[in-house]
Amino acid sequence: MDATTGSTVRTAGLVRQFRTGTEQLTAVDDMSLEITAGSVVALTGPSGSGKSTLLHLIGAIEQADQGTITVDDVEVTTLRRAALARYRQRVGFVFQRYHLLPALTVLDNVIAPVLPRRGHAGHATRARDLLEAVGLAGRERALPAQLSGGQQQRVAIARALMGAPRLLLADEPTGNLDSTTGAQILDLLLDLRDQHGMTILLATHERAIAARCDRLIRLGDGRIVEDVDLTEGEDPADTYARATQPRM
Ligand code: ADP
Repeated sequence: MDATTGSTVRTAGLVRQFRTGTEQLTAVDDMSLEITAGSVVALTGPSGSGKSTLLHLIGAIEQADQGTITVDDVEVTTLRRAALARYRQRVGFVFQRYHLLPALTVLDNVIAPVLPRRGHAGHATRARDLLEAVGLAGRERALPAQLSGGQQQRVAIARALMGAPRLLLADEPTGNLDSTTGAQILDLLLDLRDQHGMTILLATHERAIAARCDRLIRLGDGRIVEDVDLTEGEDPADTYARATQPRM
């Protein structure tokens, strides 16, 4: 599989509002952030704090009302239809509820997103390789209902990788799983990041999952209320060495 370097994601003054009747609600409120290529970032915060909306904006599933989103050299917020469709194909999405097609085999679920594109013969080979990479070799002909929740999420991850994304957006990917299976799914995502060099943005309300990411961004009412670099604390000896280093 091809190694890539992952996308750099920048947002500036991002706003997304919803109107219901006479009420106006600001789901993402003037959000500016920069995400380093190749990092795994946890988005946390209570339900309704704007995690999903931020992922939808970055993935161009929803449109921002104000502000800009730049992914590498592409300003997503200015893209028109054809370019937007191309951009979306380059972003991988994983959801809490897997969203597999129940009548299709595991292999066909993985191939499904790229079916309209050329090169069908290569697709099956790539899908098989991805299923092997997520630990599902031999289950290609199974139907989703024959798999456990953790296995179904592995299929969804393989499907998300079909377009060789440099950016993977995951909305509560372990939310339907027990903690052991959830930890295994995170292990898989971290391994895939190491192999493919993707940037991963992951919404989660689970502390144990967030704690293993490179960075934690906590949202509250559509704003960033905490932003912590967790790689700093990985090895206390390193942190100590950095803190006591003579300053240049
Ligand atoms: P989280 O993912 O942190 O739970 P969301 O991004 O789903 O938060 O929601 C942020 C806020 O925006 C919530 O108050 C939610 O009710 C509101 N919201 C999200 N999507 C819509 C929508 N399609 N229509 C109206 N309000 C919405």
